[in-house]
Amino acid sequence: MTTERVALVTGGSRGIGRAICTQLAKQGIGLAINYAGNDQLAQETADACQALGVQTLLLKGDVSNAKVCEEMVQQVLDTFGRLDILVNNAGITRDNLALRMSDEEFQQVLDTNLKGAFYCCRAAYRPMMKQRGGRIINVSSIVGLRGNAGQANYAASKAGLIGMSKSLAKELAARNVTVNVVAPGFIQTDMTDVLADKVREALLGSIPMKRLGQPEDVAKAVAFLASEDAAYITGQVLCIDGGMAM
Ligand code: NAP
Repeated sequence: MTTERVALVTGGSRGIGRAICTQLAKQGIGLAINYAGNDQLAQETADACQALGVQTLLLKGDVSNAKVCEEMVQQVLDTFGRLDILVNNAGITRDNLALRMSDEEFQQVLDTNLKGAFYCCRAAYRPMMKQRGGRIINVSSIVGLRGNAGQANYAASKAGLIGMSKSLAKELAARNVTVNVVAPGFIQTDMTDVLADKVREALLGSIPMKRLGQPEDVAKAVAFLASEDAAYITGQVLCIDGGMAM
């Protein structure tokens, strides 16, 4: 099986990450699928991508560990011979009012959401530079733009991703590597399924389009930013939120 372009997607076992994997697979892009622990769900994502005719590689590993990220990128290069697209999607929440937020709750979220993305970007930096082309897409959140009560840790990590992405965009632009951010609003996944009905109702009321987003809504925007059509777009933040943050 020959694969012309290859993507590494972190957090690809479910939710938005899985939708990104299958959307890229539909375009014939080979997939390295990272996940933390859900072997069965990750295998389902890989099966769905293979059914679309692309080669896949499953990479179980914690992105908050720098060595893991370096080894993952190396494995992608060893397996496919290239890395064209990096999507930093893995993310967690540990919500609490700042007054009650523990050091661990703050640290865990920063380590996974922000440091994890940084470690993967750093590992992909040289190979993409050498290829003189690449696409990095970081999955932030409108919470990173607007803040949210109970999510000081998450908002800090998602706002940090935006600053980091713009800096990397400036470093890599001359090498034809673009770095962009998608900022989803309220998307229907495991992450939002745990919200109480009252919170869900209130959130729905604040979405001009009056519906939750679907993982595919985010995946299609990511696929666009990863495509040749987006070659001249870098350092941007694209909100996919039904109008919530405008
Ligand atoms: P989800 O359904 O909870 O899935 C999270 C994914 O991240 C899973 O694949 C999980 O792997 C993986 N993951 C978690 N910690 C990891 C780690 N340390 N190392 C590697 N992988 C890890 O989340 P989602 O709703 O699809 O969200 C995906 C991204 O979109 C996140 O960055 C989130 O912050 C962002 N986002 C989501 C929403 C929303 O409304 N859902 C809105 C804005 C932004 P396992 O399955 O193995 O645990």
